[in-house]
Amino acid sequence: MAIGPTTVLSRPAGRPSASITVLGSTGSIGKSTLEVIALHAEYHVFALTANSNVPVMVEQCVRFQPRFAVMVDGQAAEQLAGELRKAGSATKVLSGAQALVEVATHPEADTVMAAIVGSAGLPPTLAAVEHSKKMLLANKEALVMAGELFMRTLAASNAVLLPIDSEHNAVFQCLPPESRLAGGDIRRQGVRKVILTASGGPFRTLPVEQFGDVTPEQACRHPNWEMGRKISVDSATMMNKGLEVIEACFLFGVGPEHVEVLIHPQSIVHSMVEYMDGSVIAHLGSPDMRIPIAYSLAWPERINSGAAFLDLTRQADLQFFAPDLERFPCLRLGMEAAARGGTAPTILNAANEVAVESFLSGKISFTDIPAIIAAVLAQMSCDQADTIDIIRQADEQARATARRIITETELGNGLSAPTG
Ligand code: NAD
Ligand code: MG
Repeated sequence: MAIGPTTVLSRPAGRPSASITVLGSTGSIGKSTLEVIALHAEYHVFALTANSNVPVMVEQCVRFQPRFAVMVDGQAAEQLAGELRKAGSATKVLSGAQALVEVATHPEADTVMAAIVGSAGLPPTLAAVEHSKKMLLANKEALVMAGELFMRTLAASNAVLLPIDSEHNAVFQCLPPESRLAGGDIRRQGVRKVILTASGGPFRTLPVEQFGDVTPEQACRHPNWEMGRKISVDSATMMNKGLEVIEACFLFGVGPEHVEVLIHPQSIVHSMVEYMDGSVIAHLGSPDMRIPIAYSLAWPERINSGAAFLDLTRQADLQFFAPDLERFPCLRLGMEAAARGGTAPTILNAANEVAVESFLSGKISFTDIPAIIAAVLAQMSCDQADTIDIIRQADEQARATARRIITETELGNGLSAPTG
């Protein structure tokens, strides 16, 4: 039989519908997720969650009419419930961190977008994996702090994990289809290395002597991406790429020696996979998170994301450079933690979260961030990270150590930048 256009090109009559819980819906990724959902009638919002942003949550509930809305903050939950009553909304408001787990594991939600920032995202994300949801993972900190446990839980469940981080989504798309979801060793499929691209952030060319005077506003002004404040600072220090090296190791089952980082200021090539025969497969697109979000929502199909199409004739130049680890010590610290393994990534992540928070609230300078993380890593021992209790303990101890170091700094003891 000849293969005609109808047999090859026709799509199924309707895509399966999905019922989605969006963890962190009021954030940058959460909002982009809702924009993609709004374009497609077959996707329904089951639950929305946020920490405390009532005005944005009211708008989202009125527009998407979820069954549940969770505000972790109790007062914000009360305020939200009042606003929704006035608006005649049927959405039920829940509060507290346990409610995040409830809506992430509810039998009526089949898909979970994990877009809470930081370690607060781990409990609902891990619980959703245990409950075999289709997981859209933006919350890289959850994977970095508990990668071994996370991947073991995934292997023991029927969950499907789709990376939302643009680099990892790009790598996922460049890998052989049979090894994308395995979490096994992709090198058996002829992969030589994974190449993560990095924009270099707002300070790629700033003279290093000026790093000490950088303000939170300058650090949050990313040249190519609009993101939440924490990941914006991580991009400015390049800790974001350090976290992403660790993320890639867990997701794709490779050691850090098989993950290369390249600075690519244009953010058009989102990442690449190099194969043993010398082929390099790259993923290109506009710098718009709706692309990996739409890819993951519809996977294994493709849908419209709403993002602009790429016009390469307008893209004069695509540049690639090796990163400067002296300029960006956080990237080196991330790579070292990936190589050390065990609780090193847990400690790195916790110390970074505390340091970034302190920088954003004006307590420490930009150059104190790597110094604090290096000091915490030097002061703590690294253990096997195979149980949630060990991970929690390492996380809490690293936070306490970072806070103590910051208090000492405030008292004038000062920190010296890490060397090496
Ligand atoms: P954001 O700060 O814009 O939003 C964070 C969301 O998490 C908000 O909805 C907030 O209410 C919620 N939240 C914050 N603290 C919480 C807590 N303690 N408990 C429960 N909810 C809490 O952050 P973002 O830029 O959307 O990033 C979200 C995650 O996605 C991060 O892990 C980030 O690294 C990752 N990511 C973001 C981008 C991006 O372009 N923004 C790209 C790749 C990966
Ligand atoms: Mg990224």
